[in-house]
Amino acid sequence: MALVPCRECGKEVSDAAEKCPYCGISTPSKKRRQVKLAITAIVLLLLIGGGAWAYHKVTSVFAPDTITTIDTTRPAPKLDKTVPVKPQIIQKDYKEKVEEMLDSDKSVGEISDETGLSRKEIRRIKKEKAERDKAAGK
Ligand SMILES: [Zn+2]
Repeated sequence: MALVPCRECGKEVSDAAEKCPYCGISTPSKKRRQVKLAITAIVLLLLIGGGAWAYHKVTSVFAPDTITTIDTTRPAPKLDKTVPVKPQIIQKDYKEKVEEMLDSDKSVGEISDETGLSRKEIRRIKKEKAERDKAAGK
């Protein structure tokens, strides 16, 4: 048995006391301790969860291992910031693949379904290709 501050009046009472002898509140020692424990647990969980989330975020954005282990014979490509990072990591030549599909008269929707790329991204590649063909005098 130890003396602890009463959760209401702050005076020292026994931790086994059912009532505070000073202010009369019931179980003067227990609640504060439980609340404190609960708050500590929540804060710890948030810190651990936040840390794990931040670690996952940082590693998934930079993912240097993912890039270099796909093809070690070629230097890792510079990331094009105008394009989502994921397709660049999954398939470095995905632009060429999309252009091939465009050449075979597939629609933007069909290519999007097959590759999982967004339609916006495919239209962008289509436009780039058209501009390059135009510049080459085709
Ligand atoms: Zn009290």
